[in-house]
Amino acid sequence: MMQNIRIAIQKSGRLSEDSIDLFKECGIKLDMGKGRLKSVSSNFNAEFLFLRDDDIPGYVEDGVADLGIVGENVLVESAKKVNLVKKLGFSKCRLSIAIPREESFEGPQSLQNKSIATSYPKLLSKYLKENGIKANIHEISGSVEIAPSIGLADAVCDIVSSGSTLLSNGLKEVQEIFKSEAVLIGNKNLSAENKSILEKILFRINAVQKAQDNKYILLNAPNDKLPEIINIIAGMKSPTVMPLAVEGWSSVHSVLEEKAFWEKIEALRNAGAQGILVIPIEKMIL
Ligand code: ATP
Ligand code: MG
Repeated sequence: MMQNIRIAIQKSGRLSEDSIDLFKECGIKLDMGKGRLKSVSSNFNAEFLFLRDDDIPGYVEDGVADLGIVGENVLVESAKKVNLVKKLGFSKCRLSIAIPREESFEGPQSLQNKSIATSYPKLLSKYLKENGIKANIHEISGSVEIAPSIGLADAVCDIVSSGSTLLSNGLKEVQEIFKSEAVLIGNKNLSAENKSILEKILFRINAVQKAQDNKYILLNAPNDKLPEIINIIAGMKSPTVMPLAVEGWSSVHSVLEEKAFWEKIEALRNAGAQGILVIPIEKMIL
């Protein structure tokens, strides 16, 4: 019997839902019962460990888990030696410096000799060092954004996605220092067997991601407009063109990339396309 690959994902937090959804979309079943720490997939050679996100890089480095999903911010801060296998495109956020709203910021030098509260001392000191700034780093593990108002620090360096938490604490974001998204990480010495399971997982993740980036499009067009319309769509291969029952009209089917999607739809309408249908693609294997 083949062994199971062990995959560490966050037990509960901002990475959990999308991590689970990713495996589900890959057709890999996992039960996440309340309070469970481990779950064996019923249809794939994988078992899942549900952990605090901070612990995941270490477990993957030690080989307690073979793979894991964490924020790149946590991965880099941990300084653990693992492979970054793939960026996953969700849980996007940034690590930024924020200061009290009424203060001004004239670049990194405004931080000279200041004290900065953060949960990311390594990432912050790298930024300060690169900019030749000396500052006091106060490492705190949570609620960083209240540090200036209680007099603990002059500034903070924290995770931001919309900025509303900063705003409600009287702070403004002045400098992004690191961009993050969820990443799949792997142990550096995977067994041959686990490597082949990882290949299967990556094949499926790629198909899911590709499908999310593309739509299937169907439209009707008068035959004399076909060259222009086909030129706009230019799908994976040339589109499928089929005659309609109505004389002089055709149905055009193709795959359209999500980026510049609306611009293309507009161009298609202007070129004379009618009855445009756009359909999500579930999996895309090239
Ligand atoms: P744990 O209890 O597992 O230690 P945590 O409180 O440390 O959880 P979360 O707040 O769940 O962590 O965030 C997990 C990761 O999600 C962060 O490390 C970051 O990569 C990303 N993240 C954090 N905040 C946001 C946000 N507002 N929007 C999107 N992604 C975010
Ligand atoms: Mg954490």
